[in-house]
Amino acid sequence: MALDYEELKRLDHTYLWHPFTQMREWVAEEPCIIAWGEGHYLFDVQGRKYLDGVSSLWCNVFGHRRDELDRALKDQLNRIAHSTFLGLSHVPGIELAHRLIEIAPSGLQRVFYSDSGATAVEIALKMAVQYWQLRGKEKRTKIASLVEAYHGDTVGSMSVGYSETFHRFHRSMLFPVIRLNPPHFFRRFKGMSEEEALKNAVQEADQTISKEKDSLAALVMEPLMQGAAGMWSQPPGYVKALKEICRKNRILLILDEVATGFGRTGKMFACEHETVSPDILCLAKGISGGYLPLAATLTTEEIFSAFLGEYKEFKTFFHGHTYMGNPLGCAVALATLELFKREKILERMRPKILYLIRRLEQDFMPLQHVGDVRQWGLMVGIELVEEKKTLQPYPAERRTGQRVILEARKKGVMIRPLGDVIVLMPPLTITDKELKLLLDVVYDSIRTVTEK
Ligand SMILES: *Cc1c(COP(=O)(O)O)cnc(C)c1O
Repeated sequence: MALDYEELKRLDHTYLWHPFTQMREWVAEEPCIIAWGEGHYLFDVQGRKYLDGVSSLWCNVFGHRRDELDRALKDQLNRIAHSTFLGLSHVPGIELAHRLIEIAPSGLQRVFYSDSGATAVEIALKMAVQYWQLRGKEKRTKIASLVEAYHGDTVGSMSVGYSETFHRFHRSMLFPVIRLNPPHFFRRFKGMSEEEALKNAVQEADQTISKEKDSLAALVMEPLMQGAAGMWSQPPGYVKALKEICRKNRILLILDEVATGFGRTGKMFACEHETVSPDILCLAKGISGGYLPLAATLTTEEIFSAFLGEYKEFKTFFHGHTYMGNPLGCAVALATLELFKREKILERMRPKILYLIRRLEQDFMPLQHVGDVRQWGLMVGIELVEEKKTLQPYPAERRTGQRVILEARKKGVMIRPLGDVIVLMPPLTITDKELKLLLDVVYDSIRTVTEK
């Protein structure tokens, strides 16, 4: 017999430890316990229905229980649920690699699987550093990354993605990284125009990277939108300029498209907006339609070929994860790519993105406590501030962002903030009506919390 809400709550509060959660607060609140999903909606065990406004933390693509994905998964279950990729291969893993390379930015030719965004980034870093050793440039061991980048929560990805709030207790475990200020940093903290901020950020990157060019292995960055930083957007031209700086100094460019990949920005990959191909591309989240943990690190034949040699030379990339390239994950990823093509998902997003932009400009921007709105495709950050003119933030203890999302939840919309930045990242197939509902509810919730 199914457990009732009170019993589930008791067990949750007794046995669980939730991620990124102050558990003292958690146990003082009524938990929302999801029972099932359908389309773009989540349903909790008490029968309440919520629009999934952040795609179940940025990974769902076509909604829940999508027929084509469910079927691909069941078909694969009838063959095999898991078999290793170490010393063996399997059908969906091979097919998916082929399909990924077909749609990937030009030059990428090899797929290395893993199981999360963090591991996709760890693999990219290890590949880059080993590559230069194998090419005889032993001094190229350092990594550069952007200020307030987020690349996941394992030690390597924390190092490149350091955030004071998240990682201050683990500083002793992290390796040193060269930091570049992204354009948003200048705009936000020095009050520059977008063009000035872009110019400054590129100039600084050029100086820092040129100075370190003999010691740097790679630059790793989230293109267009630094998600977890609070949806820090980059103006057009930034990724392209950094690519050029890397090329000039022969430094590898690693793009972390774990959040921006698979259509979020309106193109399959964010780097397509900038016509930039990275040397290494990290993918996860949407790759499996948001169904299963699957990730991939894609790279060029040039990098791959550096690892070739006789067994006894030990040039091998000694890295692996038990569940890497899990066949169920690969099968559902194949069905995901198929749906993108068959349903012309990216084309059909366009009018929705235009509607979103219009609503953000006309309704949200003028609000008294909206300091900034940042958007690329269906990725949105609405930054709430106490005072608009000076961009004075709210005191943290007010929990303004959290109060807004709880208000939205009461009205049937599920979102999750990043501090006082309200994040919207709906599934790509959200309907016009649902998108309107999402925006209406969030608009009302912001006003209720900040104006009353
Ligand atoms: C979510 C995220 C990650 C980490 O992915 P996990 O699957 O949670 O490990 C890495 N990079 C970016 C840009 C992300 O948004």
